[in-house]
Amino acid sequence: MKVLVIGRGGREHTIIWALNKSPKVEKIYCAPGNAGIAELAECVDINEHSFEELGNFAIDNNIDFVVVGPEDPLFAGIVDYFEEKNIPVFGPRKNAAIIEGSKVFTKDLMKKYNIPTAVYESFDSYENALQYLHEQKVPIVIKADGLAAGKGVIVAQTMEEAEAALKDMMLDKVFGEAGNNVVIEEFLQGQEMSILAFVDGEVVRPMVPSQDHKPIFDGDKGPNTGGMGTYSPVPHIPQAVVDEAIETILIPAAKAMVSEGRTFKGILYAGLMITENGPKTIEFNCRFGDPETQVVLPRLQSDLAEIFLATINGTLQDIEINWSEEAAVCVVLSSGGYPGSYEKGIPMTGLDQVEESVVFHAGTALKDGKIVTNGGRLVGVTATGADIAGARQKVYADVEKIQYDGKHYRTDIAQKALVAQQS
Ligand code: AMP
Repeated sequence: MKVLVIGRGGREHTIIWALNKSPKVEKIYCAPGNAGIAELAECVDINEHSFEELGNFAIDNNIDFVVVGPEDPLFAGIVDYFEEKNIPVFGPRKNAAIIEGSKVFTKDLMKKYNIPTAVYESFDSYENALQYLHEQKVPIVIKADGLAAGKGVIVAQTMEEAEAALKDMMLDKVFGEAGNNVVIEEFLQGQEMSILAFVDGEVVRPMVPSQDHKPIFDGDKGPNTGGMGTYSPVPHIPQAVVDEAIETILIPAAKAMVSEGRTFKGILYAGLMITENGPKTIEFNCRFGDPETQVVLPRLQSDLAEIFLATINGTLQDIEINWSEEAAVCVVLSSGGYPGSYEKGIPMTGLDQVEESVVFHAGTALKDGKIVTNGGRLVGVTATGADIAGARQKVYADVEKIQYDGKHYRTDIAQKALVAQQS
């Protein structure tokens, strides 16, 4: 089979790495790809949003199916476009991608179908929002309804901070239209965990759980990033709690989308807070997480191409999906200055000396045949091992070998799991 993967990040590199192991896949194309992806796939210089060009490429090259990595083209209706052209495609349609695209939609959906989440109210009027805010206690969470490049969520520790967030979003429109509506919700305390699932309508096939590290510095200090590292499994969260999250959150959400006439097909990602009162939903995403994918897919023992095809063809329920008992840890290397401003074009060395890990490229480019930095998050280094401690040891040994000016990474990825296991 010939497959076209759309995207350019570490997530897409990992998807391609997993597809490349399938005996069914003879050729992988990636649009537009990156320097690491180019080692496994033929990169084609077409932007994620050029639907017509992507569609023509798929038809001209007899592509058997297309996989869409990032959320933006999904929100813009890329799946609807490919379906119209009769090109098999893996991902949700626009009317289902809204589960990530609008926080108000998703909070209302969860309320209607009794899916556990933080208590909230949504507002389109600044005055009403402010009045409600003044009746609440801090900490409290303010969320812009629409897309805000991952910055539209403010966890306010003081009332002043909360008021400022509301004013920024609703009056000063710092996130543009995304702040026309806001959600004000209860602050949830607990451990965060992600569960991703392959979903076709009411059929939900969960993947192994993982935990991300959003802040840039050790000890969860500093501003949030796209994600600085992940690990899987999450050994200090009992399997019973994982099962409860699947039963009370993922399955009901998939059913709710069918009931609403928004049948979801693709990857449903639940961001969860494990509270004293059980798992609660923080958010849903409509695609693979980055860098969760970098620890989840290395634990997949089944053929990813078969799973994608089964989802597209409506046979997801019938196939076997197996996961390895091993643990996986991913450490992200970023440019100095990220998530603020940073330089690009800095040479990276030592990538070829990595021995026991896999390097998934995110923000790299080739310049005169050499790898250079080309983004904030540069590569995710993933190792697997018998347990988290073993995987950590391997991954950090390999991270040491990669060199570039301004090198930054967190040294405490997956430490929470070790500390929790020891206590
Ligand atoms: P989101 O963009 O919805 O994933 O939110 C970004 C981050 O904000 C999450 O990963 C959490 O760390 C935090 N967050 C969001 N909602 C809540 C909440 N209700 N209580 C506590 N933290 C939250």
